[in-house]
Amino acid sequence: MHLDPTKCLFCGTFTKQPPFPLGNNFTTYPAIDADRNIIGTQYWLCSDQCYDRALAPHIDPNFGIFKSAKDHPLFKRLDSIPNEFDKDDEPSSHWLAELEHIGATTEFHSEWRKIHKQKLDSAHQALLSDIKYREEQKRIADEQKATVVAQRNAERELTNQQRQQDREEQRRQRLAEREEETRRRQAERQRLIDEKQAQEDAKRQAEDEKWRPRPFSL
Ligand SMILES: [Zn+2]
Repeated sequence: MHLDPTKCLFCGTFTKQPPFPLGNNFTTYPAIDADRNIIGTQYWLCSDQCYDRALAPHIDPNFGIFKSAKDHPLFKRLDSIPNEFDKDDEPSSHWLAELEHIGATTEFHSEWRKIHKQKLDSAHQALLSDIKYREEQKRIADEQKATVVAQRNAERELTNQQRQQDREEQRRQRLAEREEETRRRQAERQRLIDEKQAQEDAKRQAEDEKWRPRPFSL
């Protein structure tokens, strides 16, 4: 079953066969319009054959849309009765049998038409229930699929956030390391400057010491 309004419900084709001229079976079925749309649904059937096959699981095969009273096994039995009188010697019996037969077959036809309509109606109702059931199944499956996709997206979003946090953390660490390195170098430079200064001070002091007038030692 193709639950897609762009396709034939039964076979999935995209194109409809042209409708039969007036008087085709479908115009007599109130459940299907002349364009083979299934009334009350968004679906359609491409051909009479597809409607027949769509109804098949729900109907006695003797009452499919292409069947007539003459196809019914009971009618075949009924039709064979007058032959039993063919060999009858009395023509009056023969005629009586013919008349009875005509009456019986007429009755059979009208009875058959009534049953045919009932069977088609209930098969069509069963088809509609089947469509509803499958639509519901599809809705549930689609919902489950949507939930799985939403979960997967949420997980992906969480992973992305985690990754971003990790990257941010790494960036902060690198920055801290760089700042530490800068501080270390500055301290080293300062140490060298101070050392040099101390050396120069010591040198100057030594020089000063050399030239400072000393008291005479007598
Ligand atoms: Zn079809």
